[in-house]
Amino acid sequence: MNCCDLAPAHVRAIAPYQPGKPISELARELGMNEGDIVKLASNENPLGPSPLALTAAQDALHDMALYPDGAGFALKAKLSAKLGVAQSQIVLGNGSNDVLDIAAQTFLTPETSSVHSEHAFAVYPIATQTVGAESIVVPARDYGHDLAAMRAAIRDDTRVLWIANPNNPTGTFLPWAEIEAFLETVPSHVLVVLDEAYGEYLPAAERCDTAAWLSRFPNLLITRTFSKAYGLAGLRVGYGLGHPDVIDLMNRVRHPFNVNLPALAAAEAALDDVAFLDRSYALNTAGMAQLVAGLAELKIGTVPSKGNFLLAKVGDAVRINAELLKRGVIVRPVAGYGLPEFLRVSVGLAGQNARFLDALKASL
Ligand SMILES: *Cc1c(COP(=O)(O)O)cnc(C)c1O
Repeated sequence: MNCCDLAPAHVRAIAPYQPGKPISELARELGMNEGDIVKLASNENPLGPSPLALTAAQDALHDMALYPDGAGFALKAKLSAKLGVAQSQIVLGNGSNDVLDIAAQTFLTPETSSVHSEHAFAVYPIATQTVGAESIVVPARDYGHDLAAMRAAIRDDTRVLWIANPNNPTGTFLPWAEIEAFLETVPSHVLVVLDEAYGEYLPAAERCDTAAWLSRFPNLLITRTFSKAYGLAGLRVGYGLGHPDVIDLMNRVRHPFNVNLPALAAAEAALDDVAFLDRSYALNTAGMAQLVAGLAELKIGTVPSKGNFLLAKVGDAVRINAELLKRGVIVRPVAGYGLPEFLRVSVGLAGQNARFLDALKASL
């Protein structure tokens, strides 16, 4: 018996997270220039980072011999002022992925379970199983979360329930009033993690100040990220908002310096760059319309999406994905999410979206 054979069964049973194929890898495989490859596979911001964030990160590099502020005081102060929550209600993460992981480590044990929806974000089962807890998977409704069924799936041993709104990879969205009504029914022994990674892409009329719910629901943890609309995926910074007692426990589990120096500086600056966020939103709205129209023209079905990505029902997704790769276009297969007939395409610049649509047309 070697150490791997003796690793816990719940660790050996984890289905690995499948990231988008890196541009450099496909360029090597095809002997192509990296610049000729289009990657629409990881829901990254096609505009790049906010210019204010880039400058702030560059300036921060001069201090890289120093540890970052482990408490993230300056970033939390800004978030606190912007969101109307106390700093004691904020936990920072190395991406919001880290916040999800910390929540699992804080509240789950091998004797407990968490609940998530079919076709939900892959990190929920990974975070759950890493700590030996059981994942309860609830069948989806119209590709999205079935809240009534999720409520019914809660057991006495359930400690966490995960909701992504909008959800990735489906782009499905539940009206906030439904989530608010659901929260009223969830027993207090269950922490509801509300993952709002794509909240900035919602139209103004469909946004909601969910942070205002925190005073009513002490078992609510809201997670947000700088990886998507703010364009800082490579720096890894996100945060969670919750009751001070929840945040206090999570801060004990969190690695002391989990958000690095340039990431803290960039996130602070990005919060000020309202113009960049507006441009990101407008570009996404136009790009989404372009993809929806282009796919309709090709008679490819889609699932209506409120994110910066779209599920396209291509049929034989393995074959079509291989054809797209040959043409230098990287999208995301989602068979691992129980969606073997779909590919997920992220909204890019107009020219990138057109490259994808052309390559898809040639691949069908
Ligand atoms: C992209 C994404 C995240 C954010 O990941 P980071 O770790 O913040 O980069 C969280 N949840 C969902 C559903 C996502 O799609």
